Amino acid sequence: MTSKLLGHFLQENLSELKSKGLYNVIHPLQSANGPIITIKGKELINLSSNNYLGLATDARLIAAAVEATHKFGVGAGAVRSINGTLDLHVKLEQKLAEFKHTEAAIAYQSGFNCNMAAISGVMDKDDAILSDQLNHASIIDGCRLSRAKIIAFNHSDIDDLRAKAKQAKESRLYKKIMVITDGVFSMDGDIAKLPEIAEVAEEFELITYVDDAHGSGVLGKGAGTVKHFGLSDKIDFQIGTLSKAIGVVGGYVAGRQDLIDWLKVRSRPFLFSTALPPGDVAASIRAIEILMSSTELHDKLWDNANYFKKGLRKLGFDIGHSDTPITPCIIGEEQKAQEFSKRLFEEGVYAKAIVLPTVPKNTGRVRNMPIAAHTTEMLDRAVAIYEKVGKEMGILQ
Ligand code: PMP
Repeated sequence: MTSKLLGHFLQENLSELKSKGLYNVIHPLQSANGPIITIKGKELINLSSNNYLGLATDARLIAAAVEATHKFGVGAGAVRSINGTLDLHVKLEQKLAEFKHTEAAIAYQSGFNCNMAAISGVMDKDDAILSDQLNHASIIDGCRLSRAKIIAFNHSDIDDLRAKAKQAKESRLYKKIMVITDGVFSMDGDIAKLPEIAEVAEEFELITYVDDAHGSGVLGKGAGTVKHFGLSDKIDFQIGTLSKAIGVVGGYVAGRQDLIDWLKVRSRPFLFSTALPPGDVAASIRAIEILMSSTELHDKLWDNANYFKKGLRKLGFDIGHSDTPITPCIIGEEQKAQEFSKRLFEEGVYAKAIVLPTVPKNTGRVRNMPIAAHTTEMLDRAVAIYEKVGKEMGILQ
């Protein structure tokens, strides 16, 4: 007999979520996660992937993955610190350091566990972390795991950050103080105020940590938010993921050599979890080579994003204040945002609704991610569907 208590807990909470319309139903894809996807046999224009540059289905990456898989097999066979480190991993880390203009880099199995690894690898219970209120869940979990004192500051509010940094510093309670921010915030598409954050960090001797999951490949001609602001020598930790613009899977820290040396002996996912598979590593290397040799995909992404945003704005939709290709279409009430997304699906667009608790109450939205691989025709079709559904639901006049 399995636990009755567990059963009660699960049923009660699942029913509550379902009754509030907050239970996320997953629709499996029957195709690659490209510009057009197939779900339940239906072809849809895909506006929900993080595959910014279309590299997830790029023939050059697929060829690199196949070749490496033939040579090294499908699995790395061990954790990095025993004998799971292939020369491919070393090459990937060298490329990442070059890409990010740092001395060195270390790769992890995902962006999520990279944040768990890197934050808890350096910070501990004698320290404090100043964390933007809207930071990604993996940053929040990494901070918790470190056992440092977490001090949240209001989103992108530099005065609040400065006041809290001053207070933390003057309290003399903490050995080290870190400031952590996303480079690009994934729900609204706004960019962190890194120059101001770096100034506060200098004033109060803070360690600086930027998670650029949504900035790499997108800002700074592809090199990311830190490069966009010309701050490569001021940011201690540049975090990235290999799963979004790079199109594969994995995460990394780029930074000074001694930081990377330390993480290789102290961070737990590096020590205790099997290394990234060879095919993924080879495909990631190829993606970084492509990004460093040409801005073609980056430029296409921005052209598409600007084109799509212009289309929605012209129709009269509220698309927030995004500075990046992330294009929220703010609907308001949660159920209405869910219904809007459902109607888009029926008409041939896949754009996921994002609601409470991921975004504040009554700011339910459909989040769109135009990518480099969309054609103008696909984007025109998507905008026409938005217009149809918007009018039908009374969102547009
Ligand atoms: N950090 C941020 C800011 C993210 O948006 C994400 C992905 N949603 C991650 C980390 C996690 O990255 P991954 O998907 O590679 O685990």
